Amino acid sequence: MGLRIKKGDMAVVITGKNKGAKGRVLSVLPEDNRVIVEGVNIIKKHQKPNKKFQQGGIIEREGSLNMSNTMLVCPKCSKPTRIGVVVLADGKKQRSCKKCKEVIE
Ligand SMILES: [Zn+2]
Repeated sequence: MGLRIKKGDMAVVITGKNKGAKGRVLSVLPEDNRVIVEGVNIIKKHQKPNKKFQQGGIIEREGSLNMSNTMLVCPKCSKPTRIGVVVLADGKKQRSCKKCKEVIE
């Protein structure tokens, strides 16, 4: 497991049709290298009536984005940044901001 975007991070889209859109990471799909970001890449889906959606109709939900098209927004300096790695005294690796060098939880 690499050190990269995690659920709960803020992310910004850096390329493609959603460029500039920002939101909280709702989930990460590491096997597909994709992330789902709140409010970004909304897709409309036709939903047949079922137990959960008795009316059926069109539902909107976030589509996944290619992880490489997104960047972490640093919680410390609020800038989009690549994720660096710092090795702590106990050998644990922690993510860090390449811009402000702060450790990111
Ligand atoms: Zn930073």
